[in-house]
Amino acid sequence: MVDSVVVVGGGTAGWMTATYLNAAFGDRVTVTVVESKNVPALGVGEATFSTIRHFFNYLGLNEQEWMLECHATYKLAVRFEDWNKPGDTFYHPFERNRVVDGFPLTDWWVQKKPTERFDKDSFLIASMCDAQSSPRYLDNSLFDGTFERGEEHRTTLTEQNTQFPYAYHFDAALLAKFLTRYGVERGVQHVLDDVVDVVLDDQGVIDHVRTREHGDVHGDFFVDCTGFRSLLVHQTLKEPFISFQDHLPNDSAVALRVPVDMAERGIRPATTATAKDAGWIWTIPLFERLGTGYVYASEYATPEEAERTLREFLGPVADNATANHIRMRIGRSERAWVKNCVAIGLSNGFVEPLESTGIFIIQNGIEQLVKNFPVGREETDVHLRDTYNRHAAHVMDGLREFMVLHWYASGRADNRYWKDTKTRALPDGLAERLEQWKVKLPDQDSIYPHYHGFESYSYRAIILGMGGLPVQPLPVLGKLDSTAADREFQLVADQAAALVEKLPSQYEYFAHLHGL
Ligand code: FAD
Repeated sequence: MVDSVVVVGGGTAGWMTATYLNAAFGDRVTVTVVESKNVPALGVGEATFSTIRHFFNYLGLNEQEWMLECHATYKLAVRFEDWNKPGDTFYHPFERNRVVDGFPLTDWWVQKKPTERFDKDSFLIASMCDAQSSPRYLDNSLFDGTFERGEEHRTTLTEQNTQFPYAYHFDAALLAKFLTRYGVERGVQHVLDDVVDVVLDDQGVIDHVRTREHGDVHGDFFVDCTGFRSLLVHQTLKEPFISFQDHLPNDSAVALRVPVDMAERGIRPATTATAKDAGWIWTIPLFERLGTGYVYASEYATPEEAERTLREFLGPVADNATANHIRMRIGRSERAWVKNCVAIGLSNGFVEPLESTGIFIIQNGIEQLVKNFPVGREETDVHLRDTYNRHAAHVMDGLREFMVLHWYASGRADNRYWKDTKTRALPDGLAERLEQWKVKLPDQDSIYPHYHGFESYSYRAIILGMGGLPVQPLPVLGKLDSTAADREFQLVADQAAALVEKLPSQYEYFAHLHGL
């Protein structure tokens, strides 16, 4: 029987795992978190993907219970700046395509091009982001009730592939603190100490971890949440790591926390990704500060150059902020789950955070663990483990393909770094899919087949926004009556204008909630 789980690591992955297992199993499974006092959690990872709402929903938390404490804001999209040419902007929104006469509105957009902005013509969210609108009114109702799906208690993202129209930005350190308290109050055991040894039995299975001051911590099952160190799965169980570096060369980041007067600046409900000479800069607006950083390839820029680029981008507001330089391990474990241990979070794998997928991967890993929870009998567990590992590999490989598409599809080729993004080897199958997409924009049947965390509308947004790939109208549309499509474009424009008029700004909304 598996009655006790030891989670090693107390960053976002560790506490999300511990609280979720506790919510799933209650006192039928003992959950212990062993967290180092000396090794800090990464402290970045502040933008999420829209399915994150299933996590809080599963824990039975409503937004007011945690958002204020974590200085959280809403995120409706990723805003890409300068990825085609300087000054260009587009949004990848959390909003599915409308369908007109059986064709996604973005197909009609390529045919009709009402304006140059596919995102504003086809989606409400692009205009809301420009206007810095809150998705909720001051009475807390959502901007459009038809978007609210899958709110039943404790649905998970793997049960139904439900996306919401928004995600969150939050302070990662404050969220870890919140989840620590939430977990401990509900019975999660917390050992604040370093793991100095991982002890295997004669079958090579983890028997216990040894801590510096609290002795041995035993468990039936272990979760490796030790970040890029991957202390259990990689260092102890020697599972090989598959690097994605040949496809995704960005291996470094420098991050800053910048105090900003949000009342003056306003809070755009989007994570911004601004293209730079050797990578891109993220800007995440929280209620009281910006989280920001430059993700770059060490082959093309030194840490000093990267920090200088970031500081120049931010201006004097960042003068007193301390830089956090991070080396990133891009790729995945060959198997996430080995023997009686599964790696969740950075210990398992990571792709650069262009679409805020780090926490999404964690959530996915936890949900799959609950679905495939081991029983402690090898003849059964081997199948649960294989199912888990297949899924975990598909998630990472699917995300790799989607990230590569961003670079390959971008219109920039103005220096060696950007030229190389067009000539690098593509992951298996992508070259063929790119040929198909030249004729017919991606649909659910023509994207990476094994994993659909990002749906075809996301692929379309990236191809249309990045501007570097040839896109032609779907031939049949020229033979169809387009009156309904024209009406729909007008409807989007009218609805967007009405919403922007009626909705409060994000700053107003949160200032109201914070009682300011
Ligand atoms: P960590 O935060 O590194 O935590 C590791 C934990 O293990 C710590 O608590 C540490 O104390 C503990 N530990 C280590 N060694 C020991 C030991 N010997 N004994 C006991 N404990 C130990 N994700 C997103 O979803 N959105 C984003 O916008 C985003 N941006 C990112 C930007 C960058 C530059 C990077 C690198 C990542 C980003 N991510 C993002 C990913 C996100 O930060 C991580 O997925 C998330 O922070 C989870 O990290 P973790 O818990 O796996 O590891």
